[in-house]
Amino acid sequence: MNTNAFALRHIGPREDDQKQMLNTIGLETLDELIYETIPDDIRLKKELNLDEPMTEHEYLLHIHDLSKKNKAYKTYIGLGYHPTILPAVIQRNILENPGWYTAYTPYQAEIAQGRLEALLNFQTMVIDLTGMEIANASLLDESTAAAEAMSLLFAVRERDQKKAGINKFFVSENILPQTLSLLQTRANPIGIELVIGKEEAFDFSEAFFGAILQYPGKDGQITDIKSFISQASDARIKVAVAADFLSLVKLEAPGQFGADVVIGTTQRFGIPMGYGGPHAAYFATKEAYKRDLPGRIIGVTKDANGNRALRMALQTREQHIKRDKATSNICTAQVLLAVMASMYGVYHGPKGLKFIANKIHNKTATLARALEKLGYKQLNTSYFDTLQIKTKAKKVKKVATKKKVNLFYPDSKTVTFSINETTSIRDINYLIAIFAEAANKETITISKIEQANNILETVQRQSDFLTDAVFNTHHSETELMRYIKSLERKDLALNHSMISLGSCTMKLNAASEMLPLSWFKWGNIHPFAPLKQAKGYLTILKELEDQLTEITGFAATSLQPNSGAQGEFAGLMVIKAYHESRNDHHRNICLIPSSAHGTNPASAVMAGMKVVVTKSTAEGNIDVDDLREKAELHKDNLSALMVTYPSTHGVYESAIKEITKIIHDNGGQVYMDGANMNAQVGLTNPGNIGADVCHLNLHKTFAIPHGGGGPGVGPICVAKQLVPFLPGSPLVKVGGKQAITAISAAPFGSALACLISYGYIKMLGAQGLTESTKIAILNANYIKQRLQGNFDTLYSGERGRAAHEMIVDCRPFKANGIEVTDIAKRLMDYGFHAPTVSFPVAGTLMIEPTESESKAEIDRFCDAMISIKKEIDNVTKEDANNLLKNAPHTLHMITANDWNFPYSREAAAFPLEYVRDNKFWPSVRRVDDAYGDRNLICSCAPIETYAEA
Ligand SMILES: *Cc1c(COP(=O)(O)O)cnc(C)c1O
Repeated sequence: MNTNAFALRHIGPREDDQKQMLNTIGLETLDELIYETIPDDIRLKKELNLDEPMTEHEYLLHIHDLSKKNKAYKTYIGLGYHPTILPAVIQRNILENPGWYTAYTPYQAEIAQGRLEALLNFQTMVIDLTGMEIANASLLDESTAAAEAMSLLFAVRERDQKKAGINKFFVSENILPQTLSLLQTRANPIGIELVIGKEEAFDFSEAFFGAILQYPGKDGQITDIKSFISQASDARIKVAVAADFLSLVKLEAPGQFGADVVIGTTQRFGIPMGYGGPHAAYFATKEAYKRDLPGRIIGVTKDANGNRALRMALQTREQHIKRDKATSNICTAQVLLAVMASMYGVYHGPKGLKFIANKIHNKTATLARALEKLGYKQLNTSYFDTLQIKTKAKKVKKVATKKKVNLFYPDSKTVTFSINETTSIRDINYLIAIFAEAANKETITISKIEQANNILETVQRQSDFLTDAVFNTHHSETELMRYIKSLERKDLALNHSMISLGSCTMKLNAASEMLPLSWFKWGNIHPFAPLKQAKGYLTILKELEDQLTEITGFAATSLQPNSGAQGEFAGLMVIKAYHESRNDHHRNICLIPSSAHGTNPASAVMAGMKVVVTKSTAEGNIDVDDLREKAELHKDNLSALMVTYPSTHGVYESAIKEITKIIHDNGGQVYMDGANMNAQVGLTNPGNIGADVCHLNLHKTFAIPHGGGGPGVGPICVAKQLVPFLPGSPLVKVGGKQAITAISAAPFGSALACLISYGYIKMLGAQGLTESTKIAILNANYIKQRLQGNFDTLYSGERGRAAHEMIVDCRPFKANGIEVTDIAKRLMDYGFHAPTVSFPVAGTLMIEPTESESKAEIDRFCDAMISIKKEIDNVTKEDANNLLKNAPHTLHMITANDWNFPYSREAAAFPLEYVRDNKFWPSVRRVDDAYGDRNLICSCAPIETYAEA
């Protein structure tokens, strides 16, 4: 046996452990367990057809070889993606640090104050630079953020009587091409009519509910958005501005002009291009729209001692909680990238950002002058970093390509290009030489960059930004390193203990899967670079598509969606396109079981479908009779069923094949939510159960870390009849023959993160993947057994087994005055992050250990749960001054001179022996959610402001 095989590193329980665990659950072999768990008729008959597994060492050599196939040419294409400099201190201490990248979404605020603070810094930075009142903690990319802005303005139009019912939205023709494509995708299904035109020619007297401008435009020209917004405001037309984040250092904040929404990407703040992503988009708006905001907002509140504490704001938290009333489906966003961008702001501060922006602007202006001297006509009269040259594009392209430089050629008579943070005087001279050669002229050599100001006077920046202390303190590496560490210490991540979040699959994110993300030749490829330069990427992306197609039992895969929820939307849009191709335009009913994740109904509504909810049985299964009845009732208009498998209740429903058949018989397609794919890989698959399309959360099943709430990758895999409709992209040919318009900004979504899943599959191979699924099921059933007698498990399969996760009931403890939240908070004192709270059943915990957790860790967790159960038995409803209600206990409480609790300090902080060796201290006491929602503050406001609130 190869003791160094990756599977043995990825999977937690050793062979002996597995035997003991099987013994505990009363079985001899793993195969018996699988037999008792997964219905026979959906089991795969043969092994997955994948390459032999590589060792970690072999994989790193392999991925290094492939990286060499990428040609990192000097790239000035712009269009929302620019070369940038990731400060090494951020790369090493955040991107390469499991303390940051393995954390979960900060729902458990008391053990997430570090990333919450970093995200609050992000929001502050966005609020300052855009001049808006509130901002969220990131969205997926600039183009989807633009679509979210349009949706928000559409949703709020009804509040303005004059605009109620108006459905026209103006799009400046200077919008980025990928954003236009996204706007089309999202406008159509909900009945928005897009009108694309020139800003200068816009007729404000026409009936529009909103408009979107690009600032500066895609060609680099800065227009007078001040005047546009002011006229629009008079006409009560709401305006969204897509603004280049770095240019805002020099351009006046759109908020100062009265913009309603400002969106964009923060990629330029130190995040590698990564062939398209992941990067954090930002979204800022007015206070008045705070309840309509997509994504998550971090807000300030207080803890049980009245001290400042942070948490995700507003009871709604995310739009999708509103299910079919939601206007956005965003769940996973781009937390890790937002954290990195915020640290770029912290490190450079306002002075550093001005230095960087001025340098870029001055170089651009110097270059413009040199090109004019060479006789070129530069069209932009006001610009930040992008020039537009009228010339024979072909001539320039020929020389530039020969000299390994990428410019952008929008048509045969135009060349545009953008200068960036990495551009040196040498690069400027190199560019001049290219244009000189294309014009058959002697080149001009620049030795000095001139000071310049080529920005339209009315939009030059006057307002201050980043005045808070945090942006003016940590400017040396030592200071920033310690600041990052001080935040990291407040957060519990997978490098401390198991995070057994049901439905979220927090498994190992192996270092060898992560290493290549830092490499230059993976980071520095522009998503619109010629395909010939991206051969390394195309090789792995194609192979990953093939691997996922094989694993799901389908015909093809699109990697474009950059979260699970985007995958859902993409899948439904593909289904819609399929129906329409058969002249079934009327098919718009989407059946969704009541237990579905909130993103399901939210996505269906975004796709223009009508949600019909179907019932569950007492055993947690889909009520097949109810489903049949509803499918038949709606058979003329049935579009799809959305079903999670195994169900969100943690059960492999044996009726699944019957269910998918009912839908097909009534003319519908079956969408399978693949969040629970970790219970299927190698043993069964969506194709096999009769689904037509599924999304996968590569950040759950396929080892991409959660990053504290993103990035994610949510590819869709489809059956043969849906392949023609896989999503396209305006500048790069991807997708099916009758491709739907874009689902995310980049042709391959978050390509850089895809390396992780590729590595995961490459190193596990068919056997390792299948073994992982089996052990995930073993670990879950072992926990179920160990907790028996203390916690009841709701729902199990026909033979009494759980799938890869289980729901434990905490409602009976209400008799003792204990809520499920109290258990979640008490687990922190034991060094554990709570399992999923109250999804899909209120008052329960959903536990998913994954295959990566060892028996020892699982035993510690079970010991903690059982010990908490004893504590519950000892408390009463009448007396809330107890271990659970007061949890979590901070170091400050334990070491304070006063101790007024009716239990010992030891019982509070060190309830079990193992805690002594590895104590994790929550940094604040229990946070007060309601208080913060009544007094919403979502930037680093000075403490005084907070005290007055
Ligand atoms: C996580 C999850 C989703 C949403 O996926 P994101 O990547 O967060 O957008 C959808 N459905 C289920 C069942 C999930 O667990």
